[in-house]
Amino acid sequence: MTKPPPHRRSGPPSASGRGRPPPRPEKLAPDRTTPDLGPDGTPQVALVRRGVERWQAGHPWIYRADLNGDPALAGGEVVRVVDGRGWFIGKALYSKHSKISLRWLSYDDVAVDADFFRQRLQSANALRQQALPGEQTYRLVHGEADGLPGLVVDRYGDYLSAQFLVPAMEQRKELIADLLEELLHPRGIVNRSDVGVRALEGLPQEKGLLRGALPPGPVSFDEGLVRMRADLLEGQKTGAFLDQRENHVMAAQYASGDALDCFSYVGGFALQLATRARHVTAVEISEAAGAQLRDNAAANKLSNLDVVTANAFDFLRDAVDEGRRFDTIVLDPPSFAKNKDAIAAAVRGYKEINLRALQLLKPGGILISASCTYHVDEQAFEDMLASAAADARRRVQIIERRGAGRDHPVLLNLRETRYLKCFVLRVL
Ligand code: SAH
Repeated sequence: MTKPPPHRRSGPPSASGRGRPPPRPEKLAPDRTTPDLGPDGTPQVALVRRGVERWQAGHPWIYRADLNGDPALAGGEVVRVVDGRGWFIGKALYSKHSKISLRWLSYDDVAVDADFFRQRLQSANALRQQALPGEQTYRLVHGEADGLPGLVVDRYGDYLSAQFLVPAMEQRKELIADLLEELLHPRGIVNRSDVGVRALEGLPQEKGLLRGALPPGPVSFDEGLVRMRADLLEGQKTGAFLDQRENHVMAAQYASGDALDCFSYVGGFALQLATRARHVTAVEISEAAGAQLRDNAAANKLSNLDVVTANAFDFLRDAVDEGRRFDTIVLDPPSFAKNKDAIAAAVRGYKEINLRALQLLKPGGILISASCTYHVDEQAFEDMLASAAADARRRVQIIERRGAGRDHPVLLNLRETRYLKCFVLRVL
């Protein structure tokens, strides 16, 4: 006879039949009129219990509702984060206007000085050297995913393009510029802080030269066999969609026959398709982007590409009605949802274009389908694809599930950094 297993429970037995006592209601501090200062003179911000739990669970953002009272700070400070009893639990950047009040900097009580930022920048640079050796164009700093919340820096050869997205980084932009010059000796640093999210932080949009000289014209860089150009002052984002670079190059491998690229911008995917396909149709709503795409095609001596200035939704519907067929299709639309309320509409938009693309593919055809909407996560995106496949009455294989390039690391515990999905699908 086997003996029953030993009693393994480690907690106290609840012989009395009572469960755990309900937690005592938390004592909330009133809003402060002067900041609380820690032993080293650094302002201190206390969290309520839920905030402490969130911080301990590894989330790098703390929302306003999880602060214990208003800390009476101007915004942009490096602060000590403390729990309800005043124990130190980390250091963070404070934002006064954003719903996100605190952004993780360190679990340790370290000095957040020039050396601190120098080390974070060196670490970010080291990853790119390791993951993309010899590469001259890449995202050098990807915000919180590189331990530098609210800072984005892209490198285009001898030039850097930076975005300062929170007050703390805005206030330290000269320091960051000094450190970037020390690290990489760029010819110029462009400031592309002309982005809408700055409004959430109470910051105006700004654009211009931060250091050195502007590039004399668009900067050039290679993506596989294709030479691309980016206008650092006028282009979208910091000049180009660097997050898709590795996916652009991958797309060439799958291209064949008649190819279609929707939402082309200046041709990141379309030009790659043109290196392998017989013919490429690029659909882009912006005349200016379409004109640049034509220039890029000419510069790459790719004459098998036509740019159609149209709404991709209309183009796809008409192509289905006309019974057209393609061997390779790329869909890389702009973000369809800027906030949670827009998710349902975004998913409907994705479904419409993916359904039509699946209807347009020949047997064995490839669909490369991307989404940069972080409110629609990978599972939701895959569910949408499955439903589009069913409605299109096509059997579809998943060949690759990709994300942004390796210079756009994803931070565990911050799903928002996993915003880009890029599926490679094949219809039977
Ligand atoms: N695929 C590109 C990036 C696309 S960005 C790359 O990899 O580089 C999204 C592009 O879609 C923008 O250029 C924008 O002008 C275009 N766009 C937005 N709405 C559109 C629509 N309804 N139809 C066609 N193009 C659209």
